[in-house]
Amino acid sequence: MEDIIAIGFDLFNTLITADHGAIKGATQRLILSLEKSGFDLEHEAFKRAHRESAVRFIEETRKEGRETHNRFWISEALGTQGHTVSPDDPRVAKAVDAYFSAFFDHCHPIPGTVEMLEKLSGRYRLGLLSNFTHGPAARGIIEHMGFAPFFEVILISGELGYCKPHPMVFHKLAEALGVQKNALIYIGDDPLLDIEGAQEVGIQPVWTTYVKDRDIPYTPGIARGQTKDPEDTVSRISTWDEFLSLLDGKIKRD
Ligand SMILES: [Mg+2]
Repeated sequence: MEDIIAIGFDLFNTLITADHGAIKGATQRLILSLEKSGFDLEHEAFKRAHRESAVRFIEETRKEGRETHNRFWISEALGTQGHTVSPDDPRVAKAVDAYFSAFFDHCHPIPGTVEMLEKLSGRYRLGLLSNFTHGPAARGIIEHMGFAPFFEVILISGELGYCKPHPMVFHKLAEALGVQKNALIYIGDDPLLDIEGAQEVGIQPVWTTYVKDRDIPYTPGIARGQTKDPEDTVSRISTWDEFLSLLDGKIKRD
């Protein structure tokens, strides 16, 4: 095996899945929080405006590789209901936390993940790099899943200002782990964000198709167009056992 010293992991659909109820539950809590703060809302219209605004902000900002934040689309959706509120209003911050609190109930570790991390943490430096708008929520989920003790480095796009596949976040991962990029592998489910992103900066990618192979619906996030599968030269795993044997054997396939 190449001299791999460190492994970087994606979060959603790599280590955890979010079930169908995540976005629905989160939106309900968001509305409840805003109503508690005194905003009068027409629920269906607000939900529609919130979703449309989120899609637009995410598409626009991510085009340049920058990360955005929920406070912008919550503020804009409130505006459509006649409430002029700054994205930095504390009532909006409270609503963001309420929104993501639902994720604790709707996120589930992929079976065997804690055991896999436990095994690998003795042999490699482990890092986590996630595209997630709200850093505190991502960190809360990682903690809640019991993953936190295994990671030397946890990087969240919402805190970095940039998101995958921007090279900056992968540079940051290698730097934070204190390794050269050719001593690092990165495992994720998304052909563009994770696989191409890592390849672009010289990090060896591993494609996990756990979710794809089991037809688990992709939540959370905004549905993107069909992405092309990575080239055959990219290592592919569907279970943690396969990942462990890949690490034990020759990981470089070309
Ligand atoms: Mg993912």
